Amino acid sequence: MILAADRVIAGDGKTVLEGAAVCVRGGRIEAVGPLETLRGQFPGEPEHAYPGASILPGLIDMHVHIGYYYEKEDAAAYRENPMLLALFAADKMKKTLQAGVTTVRDVSSPLGIAQTLKKAEQKGYVRLPRIVTSGQGICMTGGHGWSMTGAVCECDGEWEIRKAVRRQVRDGADWIKVLTSEGYRGCELAQSELDAAADECRRMGRRSAVHAGYGASLDMAIQAGFDTIEHGTALTREQALLMKEKGIAWTPTIVAFTYIRDKMAQQAAQSGLELDFGYIAEAADIYARNFKELYDTGVTVVTGTDQVMDDAPTSPVARECRYMVEYGISPLQAIECATANGAAVLGMGHELGQVREGYLADLLVVAGNPVQDIAALEQVRAVVSKGELL
Ligand SMILES: [Zn+2]
Repeated sequence: MILAADRVIAGDGKTVLEGAAVCVRGGRIEAVGPLETLRGQFPGEPEHAYPGASILPGLIDMHVHIGYYYEKEDAAAYRENPMLLALFAADKMKKTLQAGVTTVRDVSSPLGIAQTLKKAEQKGYVRLPRIVTSGQGICMTGGHGWSMTGAVCECDGEWEIRKAVRRQVRDGADWIKVLTSEGYRGCELAQSELDAAADECRRMGRRSAVHAGYGASLDMAIQAGFDTIEHGTALTREQALLMKEKGIAWTPTIVAFTYIRDKMAQQAAQSGLELDFGYIAEAADIYARNFKELYDTGVTVVTGTDQVMDDAPTSPVARECRYMVEYGISPLQAIECATANGAAVLGMGHELGQVREGYLADLLVVAGNPVQDIAALEQVRAVVSKGELL
């Protein structure tokens, strides 16, 4: 099929082809070029025209938790019924795909649900985004996330941690997730434990993500050498430079903090009570203040949302991009964070995350021109997933 719009945004942070179209065949991008050229090259190929629209790579959400039900009012119903949980998770992933997010990296989920959905999607039972899984997260006893039943396992000491990594690999994890800070609290795991975790991931051939927000937890996580730092709320310029040097990417998850802050503010206004926002409001402010300076260090930035917006009608990745632009980077740079950068960090940069000949055909068509107005990312006209138009 040929998709024709007003322009193609390649996803590499610079290339915009005005008047270009894309030919998709067999799950791959066969060609990108002027519509007339493609018509000549591929006569009789069915065409889909989107006047006034832009074609870009499908978005990548590098921080989701498939099947996190813990915030739900009737959480017990999900805890007691894995089938209900699976249907809930599948429905949420389906909506994620419809919002133009064609790849997600799950960074801890309960009951092996990410692996199960991935398998179901590969068998064709459900149409969902491409899923990269981490299985259960790993934290110290009583550490961040420990109470997320089934989604995070508590481990202490080098060998328990190495064993947990091996168990996740055995159970099908593509990545490993470690959690080592909560709120303002310093580092939870000891340096030797973090080192063991990162080392075991390398030994087992798995990339690793670490939840770290403040001060010491960031220094220690950088020293251990994980592949991505999740949140990194109070990251300093020096730390970001070190991350760049060591090839560690940053998933800021701005939208998670701003969403929670706004929701709490709304609740406060409605109740007339003065609510303590804790570190959340401050965290949101820190992102607004520091994001541009940190981005400018050259550290690889990717988009992650935590998928906190259960009820939101639009994609949080698009909203994450909107914040990034609001805080100082260009729309093309934000799109690169949400496409090519994510693919590169996943180790798939050679075939995912760009609109280029030979690449996997995961595409998003949006009304308008996101290069001029990033909010256009939320105006989804069409989604192509694994070469098929939804
Ligand atoms: Zn998370």
